[in-house]
Amino acid sequence: MQTTFDYTSYSGRVIFGKGSLARTAEVLTELRCSRALVLSTQGQINKAERLCDDLGKACIGIFSNATMHTPVDVTESAMSVVNDLKADCTIAIGGGSTVGLGKAIALRSDLPQIAIPTTYAGSEVTPILGQTVDGKKTTLKSTAVLPEVVIYDPDLSRALPLDISVASGINAIAHAVEALYAQDRNPVSSMMAAEGAKALIDTLPVILKDPENTEARQQALYGAWLCGTVLGTVGMAFHHKLCHTLGGTFNLPHAETHSVILPHAVAFNAVEVPELLSPIAVALDAERPGLGLHKLAQELGAPTSLKELGMPEEGIDIAAKAAVANPYWNPRPLDEKLIREVIENAYFGRPPTN
Ligand code: NAD
Repeated sequence: MQTTFDYTSYSGRVIFGKGSLARTAEVLTELRCSRALVLSTQGQINKAERLCDDLGKACIGIFSNATMHTPVDVTESAMSVVNDLKADCTIAIGGGSTVGLGKAIALRSDLPQIAIPTTYAGSEVTPILGQTVDGKKTTLKSTAVLPEVVIYDPDLSRALPLDISVASGINAIAHAVEALYAQDRNPVSSMMAAEGAKALIDTLPVILKDPENTEARQQALYGAWLCGTVLGTVGMAFHHKLCHTLGGTFNLPHAETHSVILPHAVAFNAVEVPELLSPIAVALDAERPGLGLHKLAQELGAPTSLKELGMPEEGIDIAAKAAVANPYWNPRPLDEKLIREVIENAYFGRPPTN
């Protein structure tokens, strides 16, 4: 057992349960807020309108232009609405893109936030904010961006399309995987990571068969909460660095890129730290966790090749070079030749080699 460690926990309240969306008004009162601006993407505007209707006078408007990777010009438009309407808090209802907008507004205004996640991205419990200017993404870490309250209501994710459910769930498992071997891991983060990954590994196949299964959706949100929490408390490694490099360089979709790379990154690191990855192997009932994750992705119909995500083949060399330049700490030393092999296997959708 690890006996020497640092552990940081962040304040914030989470509310779980079917129908818990109805508690939003009560939470607003507890936060002493009465002029909420509801945030959403264009696609989720119906959920925002319903919530706003339910809140009555306490909802002063909707901003429905939340966009992937939090472009700063979108945040600036939202800030104008916040100021014009004199909002005293925001409520983000949606996936990581909408939650990201709420965090960006909190950074600029210090307004309290309620996050109501409808995917499994986990951003709602991390002090991390990625923002984009002219297509260039930068990331910052500040407790100022953490929502005061998170409401996890499984009814909201029952209609989450299967492809997004699966990719988003595997994206969450990736946070847990890297937390298990993080340099600054601790017994609490490892416990949460193992539990979070297991919850998702167990429940994604159930969701695939029965997308409307509320209990399975609830379990996925529970896993997403745990996986997001560890993403916010310990450092990520090679897998996240490679996904950010690929996503940024070739404009690949966020969650799907995680889904393709994860089995390969796990197989690569399992050579060095098999014991730290054993909770993943056990949850998958697989001898080799990388191969187990590849099989799971196939069974779930998740993307397994970078080619199908639209990356050009010449990107393999570009990405291999970029992945070893300014690398994140990783349990297994990075070597350009080996990394190129990993990316090539992921490009063609081959099973991982280890
Ligand atoms: P997303 O928020 O962009 O949502 C994906 C799509 O699903 C959108 O079109 C959205 O309208 C739709 N959608 C969301 N919920 C739905 C529902 N219940 N039913 C039907 N459709 C629904 O994607 P995401 O994967 O949740 O988040 C990705 C973003 O979050 C990226 O910008 C990523 O960088 C960020 N992120 C940040 C952190 C962090 O800690 N800062 C962590 C994870 C992800």
